[in-house]
Amino acid sequence: MFLSKSDYIMGLDCVKALWLKKNRKDLTPEYDDRTLQNFETGEKVQELAYDYYPKGIMVDAENWDVFGGAAKTKILTQDHDVIYEATAKLDNGCFCRIDVLMRNGDTWDLIEIKSATEVKDYYIDDLSFQKYVFENAGYPVRNCKVLHLNNQYVRHSDLDIQQLFTEEDVSEQVNERQKDVEMYVKGMLSYQTRPEEPEVPLHSSCSDCPFYGYCGKDVPEYSVFDLLSSKNADLFYNQTHSFNVEDVSEDWCSTEKQLIDRDAYLNKSLHIEQERIQDWLNTLEYPLYYLDYETVQCAIPMFDNAKPYAQIPFQFSLHIQNSPNAEPKHLEFLHQERSDPRRALAEFLIKSCGKKGSIVVYNQAFEMTRNKELAELFPDLAVDLLAINERVIDQLIPFRSRALYSYKQKSSASIKYVLPAFSDLSYKGMNIANGGEAMSKYLAFLEGKQTEDESKQMFADLLKYCGQDTYAMVLLMDVLYQFAKGKKK
Ligand code: SF4
Repeated sequence: MFLSKSDYIMGLDCVKALWLKKNRKDLTPEYDDRTLQNFETGEKVQELAYDYYPKGIMVDAENWDVFGGAAKTKILTQDHDVIYEATAKLDNGCFCRIDVLMRNGDTWDLIEIKSATEVKDYYIDDLSFQKYVFENAGYPVRNCKVLHLNNQYVRHSDLDIQQLFTEEDVSEQVNERQKDVEMYVKGMLSYQTRPEEPEVPLHSSCSDCPFYGYCGKDVPEYSVFDLLSSKNADLFYNQTHSFNVEDVSEDWCSTEKQLIDRDAYLNKSLHIEQERIQDWLNTLEYPLYYLDYETVQCAIPMFDNAKPYAQIPFQFSLHIQNSPNAEPKHLEFLHQERSDPRRALAEFLIKSCGKKGSIVVYNQAFEMTRNKELAELFPDLAVDLLAINERVIDQLIPFRSRALYSYKQKSSASIKYVLPAFSDLSYKGMNIANGGEAMSKYLAFLEGKQTEDESKQMFADLLKYCGQDTYAMVLLMDVLYQFAKGKKK
């Protein structure tokens, strides 16, 4: 059986995941849109990164053709100093493909290209495995490096490849882990061929695993993993083998919030602190401007004056309410061209927000950071944009602080949970139902991957989605007023 570098990384995380990958192919989930988009981003970054190491030669072999790739790599290393997608394979079944293999005197450097903007810990494991394979396949390795995107790079006109990327030498960290690789490899090679499925208790980080649908099929929608801290949830499950909040005694709760959430859930009730809700409402100044942004992020900056992964706002919704319970007026902005949306958005925002009254947002860090970035980008608009930030009030606070909490929130203060807990409005069934979808569809538009009709539909869906986000805040404000007055129970 083969062991690839992604198998190795998976095996380090969880041997059961590795076993399931090898023995229960029926359980391997289809890639979702987000994962596919990440793959595509990775490929684009990789293609650009080859120019960082010019004059290399590509190993011409299909992905599945490990033997062919390894044989062609051997031949190319005789006459070439820079080889892209170099492949090595061992008799024990281990194999890998390094993004760039570069000659360094009598030895070789391994260079892994990553679309992130920093070195992540698992890259070290990734390179440790690759070094093990290449060295045992007859390529002495001197340095191991990661080439990743540079988050300080700002695009001006054409991409500057030397500035877009940063190369980090991680040889020392790789060498430190090197001694354990062989032991792990042996363990994984024997583990994956065992006939019986390994028993690994479910734990709080399982929800990120591709096999969570299988291992976590009995976990209820609201469980100890939502209620307790990761450490306590894992301890609780190990000791009791229960996921159920009903089985959690008070002693397991380490914060006041957890106690509130637990009691609310057990009694299927609300937690209401009228005075705290009223204190928060007292900070509001009318008219209220309920604001929400949608943004798009590109690994490789598409526009001038943008860094890798900059959050570029392209849409906002604004509901304006002159007094409590008054019918709100709605304004919105959506950039419908394949050009930089920021200047037009900032100007319309300033024009729409007036000079006084609270700007109500849900989770203020996001909108305030976008405003600060716009102010840096457009110094002539900075005073007005920063003045908007001075007026921001965060509606998340009364819900996150548990001044008002419903058991239906399932320990979350996200508007996606709070809204259906207190109103009939929900995001279910919407063509665009969350910020991630809004972002990926708008990115597809920017990249010219949609037909005109698809874009038209998407613009309508975006307007509906973002409009609902701010209308939701209007409804929640009404809810807060009613609870503050004790009218709702
Ligand atoms: S869901 Fe958890 S236990 Fe199951 S394979 Fe994944 S990490 Fe392992």
